[in-house]
Amino acid sequence: MLYEVGDIVRTKKVHPCGSKLWEITRVGVDFKLKCLGCGHVVTMERPKALKAITKLEKKYNENEKDNKTS
Ligand SMILES: [Zn+2]
Repeated sequence: MLYEVGDIVRTKKVHPCGSKLWEITRVGVDFKLKCLGCGHVVTMERPKALKAITKLEKKYNENEKDNKTS
């Protein structure tokens, strides 16, 4: 599974704030995930992040990408 910045993902563990949904804000050697519940940002090594992510909830909107470049 390939993830990209802007994707919304679900993780195994529930964040203390009660949210299971995270937005990917960085991909690479490390992944940065922003909690959609409280805005908390965590950095995880790629293998850990890939393990923690159970589901791709919402793919980054291609149309939004187009809007940003124009
Ligand atoms: Zn949270």
